[in-house]
Amino acid sequence: MLPSAQIRDAVMAQKPDVGALFDALRAGSRDGDGITRDTYGAGEQFAHKLISAQADAMGLETRRDHAANLFMTLAGKDRSTPRLMTGSHLDSVANGGNFDGAAGVVAGLVAIKTLQRLGRQPDCDITSVAIRAEESVWFQVSYIGSRAAFGVLPAGALEARRVDTGRTLGEHMAECGADIDAVQRGVASLDAKSIKSFVELHIEQAPQLVEAGIPVAIGTGVPGNFRYPQVKIIGEYAHVGLPRRFRRDAVLAASDLAVGLDDIWKKNEAAGRPMAFTIGRFHTNPKEHALTKVAGEMTLSLDVRAYDKAHLSELEGTVLNLAREIGQRRGVQFELGARTAADVAPSHPAVATKLDAAAKALGVATMPLASPASHDTATFTVAGVPSAMLFVRNANGSHNPREAMDIDDFLQGAAVLTGWLAAEAIS
Ligand SMILES: [Zn+2]
Repeated sequence: MLPSAQIRDAVMAQKPDVGALFDALRAGSRDGDGITRDTYGAGEQFAHKLISAQADAMGLETRRDHAANLFMTLAGKDRSTPRLMTGSHLDSVANGGNFDGAAGVVAGLVAIKTLQRLGRQPDCDITSVAIRAEESVWFQVSYIGSRAAFGVLPAGALEARRVDTGRTLGEHMAECGADIDAVQRGVASLDAKSIKSFVELHIEQAPQLVEAGIPVAIGTGVPGNFRYPQVKIIGEYAHVGLPRRFRRDAVLAASDLAVGLDDIWKKNEAAGRPMAFTIGRFHTNPKEHALTKVAGEMTLSLDVRAYDKAHLSELEGTVLNLAREIGQRRGVQFELGARTAADVAPSHPAVATKLDAAAKALGVATMPLASPASHDTATFTVAGVPSAMLFVRNANGSHNPREAMDIDDFLQGAAVLTGWLAAEAIS
């Protein structure tokens, strides 16, 4: 056991170093007001080098796997016993914020440094991982790095093209030192049985902790989703003078869908069943649309998420029924296109309970919080690793340059992470 006061003091003493590390991350990936650490590109590569150098300076073992994920390990007394893991991703969206992802990797290093400073060797290995390619905006594929680590990335994903360069995931990975052949064959660098538990610290992406006045939350789970990235609604182009009853208007059909989904969300929320839907793209065809034409085509993307498997599949049925009903009523055709999905990943109750106990011992105020977003933790959970998340209060959301996490809040989160590791591995 390590006294909580010692943990707290040793974590807080790292404030200047932590500030300097976040500043260095920002300086090397600055892009306008924000930062860009592009997935399997120059930005992510820079961050991996910086963090790897930090781990070297701390005397940790570093290892890169076939997908170029970076594992930084403090050796335990018994190296054959299942390890404790923490970490997050280092990539970002374009012109994003400095803390989404990176906070979890830095927190892992802070926790390990704390144990080093207190001169305590853990019973088992403790590994902080810098995961590749979590941000699905670049290749429109989710959890690339973590799924490749568990050997469950579909081989076809390597053909996905990056939205800006037009080059394949395979090409980008190879440039960053990955072994594409091994990724293709589904080689695994992580095995669920060799990981005792995994905890990912992440900034909150909504203002719920700001609203509650609480610095840290313990995640209750990562939502599952189903996605239709490219829905087409086909109606009929017509002259602006066409009377209403003859129209097959794709814009009105798409609008009915959006408003109908919002209605479904409102009803679910009122019934205490958390969910979310997002139409991120919503557009007519610029080659054909015009001021004086009824639009005969709409394209939109749809992401629907929920925290319960049965609820999610019920929602999918409701959404498809809605589309069918609108199609009949408006005389349009819904072409749903490709579908992708991710499993619901509830936090492991025992891990969440231990995080709660660590926070209480340290005097850090926490609350339970359902994650609004997707995280690599879901891959660990689905693989069978007992996992949970910590969220740190953050104003202005994430995926934008105005994301604002107070370093003191971050250190409170890192202290909870350290307290959990110490309770698990310091005898
Ligand atoms: Zn993230």
